[in-house]
Amino acid sequence: MAFDLDMIKKVYNNYGPRIEAARKVVGKPLTLTEKILYAHLWEGNATQAHERGITYVDFAPDRVAMQDATAQMALLQFMQAGRPTVAVPSTVHCDHLIQAKIGADIDLETANTQNKEVYDFLASVSNKYGIGFWKPGAGIIHQVVLENYAFPGGMMIGTDSHTPNAGGLGMIAIGVGGADACDVMAGLAWELKFPKLIGVKLSGKLSGWASAKDVILKVAGILTVKGGTGAIVEYFGEGAKSLSATGKGTICNMGAEIGATTSVFGYDDKIATYLKGTERAEIARLADQIKEHLTGDDEVYANPHNHFDQVIEIDLSTLEPHINGPFTPDMAWPLSQFAAAVKENGWPQTLEVGLIGSCTNSSYEDISRAASIAQQAVDNKLVSKAEFTITPGSELVRYTVERDGFLKTFENMGGVVLANACGPCIGQWARHSDDPTRKNSIITSFNRNFKSRNDGNPNTHAFVASPELVTAMTIAGDLAFNPMTDTLTNSAGERVKLEEPQGLEMPIKGFDVEDAGYQAPAKDGSKVNVIVDKKSSRLQLLDSFKAWEGTDIKGLKLLIKAKGKCTTDHISMAGPWLKFRGHLDNISNNMLIGATNFFNDKADTVKNQFNGEYGPVPATARAYKAKGIGSIVVGDENYGEGSSREHAAMEPRHLGVRAILVKSFARIHETNLKKQGMLALTFVDANDYDKIREDDSIDITSLNDFAPAKPLNIVLNHIDGTTDTFNVNHTYNEQQIEWFRAGGALNIIRMNQ
Ligand code: SF4
Repeated sequence: MAFDLDMIKKVYNNYGPRIEAARKVVGKPLTLTEKILYAHLWEGNATQAHERGITYVDFAPDRVAMQDATAQMALLQFMQAGRPTVAVPSTVHCDHLIQAKIGADIDLETANTQNKEVYDFLASVSNKYGIGFWKPGAGIIHQVVLENYAFPGGMMIGTDSHTPNAGGLGMIAIGVGGADACDVMAGLAWELKFPKLIGVKLSGKLSGWASAKDVILKVAGILTVKGGTGAIVEYFGEGAKSLSATGKGTICNMGAEIGATTSVFGYDDKIATYLKGTERAEIARLADQIKEHLTGDDEVYANPHNHFDQVIEIDLSTLEPHINGPFTPDMAWPLSQFAAAVKENGWPQTLEVGLIGSCTNSSYEDISRAASIAQQAVDNKLVSKAEFTITPGSELVRYTVERDGFLKTFENMGGVVLANACGPCIGQWARHSDDPTRKNSIITSFNRNFKSRNDGNPNTHAFVASPELVTAMTIAGDLAFNPMTDTLTNSAGERVKLEEPQGLEMPIKGFDVEDAGYQAPAKDGSKVNVIVDKKSSRLQLLDSFKAWEGTDIKGLKLLIKAKGKCTTDHISMAGPWLKFRGHLDNISNNMLIGATNFFNDKADTVKNQFNGEYGPVPATARAYKAKGIGSIVVGDENYGEGSSREHAAMEPRHLGVRAILVKSFARIHETNLKKQGMLALTFVDANDYDKIREDDSIDITSLNDFAPAKPLNIVLNHIDGTTDTFNVNHTYNEQQIEWFRAGGALNIIRMNQ
């Protein structure tokens, strides 16, 4: 049994008292989202201020899930905390590093060789610290979590943006950076801006070609890629209750594409059925006992406009199948309008590849509905015009759909079954193409379709739809085909009209699997060694950062005065650098290489104050560090916006940068800097930015009086002997000042063990 029943019992025991305590404070009916959030307030503190979209609140998540790419740095950091085991149940899933090229078996074998050092590290560190480890080939993180760990009313964080998939089982599940995962595993509170609430009322019932995927494709069209930002989307109504649990998962999964913090459904019979079908009947029994807390209050759903910040209504009975794209998931086209859109916009009409599966759409229901279309192709001598691939989401699903003959059906249609992994969804796809410069179209049942995402080719027009529609379009090989109205010609020259898809929510014979690919951690991990090859270029154990020296910090060299936008991508670029994400020293060679130097308008070209020569930012920082001299980075507005990757804070710390002084910070990056023991400072007067000169040595004074809400002092020592002095602000609280003094938050945790 992989899930932790004792933890769930504890969460449910707290539920009633915590919600009632919160209800007294807020004095109004509660949405489901609010109930789950209030049940997970840090130390049950119902009096924490919480204003939607404004206040940051501390929470205590129940679980952590990590995928293999992001887990590396999260776990290297966790090792610094000095804990014998993780503070909350946690799992690692090897899914992102497997490249799809030939087919499941060979691709998996190749990945096991190419990524051996990463897998050995993840397996051993998981074994040591009580973390469940899902081996390469076991499945994609979100599908595996849905099948094993998600539970109604729970709260989970995961180091992947589609973590919200677990909302399909009624869980608040949120994608985070590795630093947050590390904190929660180390036993710290987790901070989240109290979300705004968007209610989506579903009425009616799906039929025919329409599927759960079409709900989120339509919602994406309404809200656009930014419309859910800072909000949790709560689905309710009779229509919501009619959707299968895995269909709910699909909707929550792709909620990431509207920028939502997460999405969630209330506990209902469909969720109970799925729990029972995946050997978790005991959780359904426990959830039944508190079911009034696992859905929103009646008054909320009767008058949603009074309780949600925004309300959307969708009638499932009239919902048309949708195809979204290209290049953005919110360009939503009802199927009846899609063919005209293809022609009007000049998108390549010939469809070259159809891809089904992924964490978004590889449930038994999805596969069986898609297989019902594939079977019709086989039965009616229709030859598939486009290539076809199938990516099962987990070994549990793969084994079961193979047993039930669906994979054979796909293969008979000419499909290739890929490994249970991310593969083409994240660009891990060695696509065979005769001419990559040709504009071309593909269609997937995945969630993201930004330029170059699937095959790295900017000429590929990627569209997103349900698996059954993808299968039909693949057979036709024509984007203008509408299976609801059009016919196809078979190899005998006969006209064939595809029937509506048919499928089953759950397998009649139940799920089955021989080896799910799970490695339970050692009961006592104290003797387990973590495997890291000292010569590895991809992994490096971390050394703890030095504590503050206890004096003012003087003589810092200006490393770069960044001009304009400086996102975490500018600070720590992705792309080819991602292979070094477990090796701090190597990945630090990308530090700030995307930032524009104010003094010459060039990227990655800064002056070394010792020899006057211009060189790359990382090399210049290393030169200062080699002389034992610290440096400082100056930046513009909203410094560090973008993804929350912790490398953007760790790299400067590693290369000797002591402070980041900017006009304003993106909040998450500011917090990440604090956690690494850096000084994150803002100009009191933004015009002081103009006083910073290229050859400045900079002092940060009054550090012995460092206190919340009390400005610090900066002295600019110009090369001509003159100085400028001004105050700078900070947002450190008492605890964060302790982090600075100790050299980082993890140093404090370790000291307190
Ligand atoms: S299948 Fe795609 S969306 Fe899902 S976890 Fe993998 S990369 Fe992310």
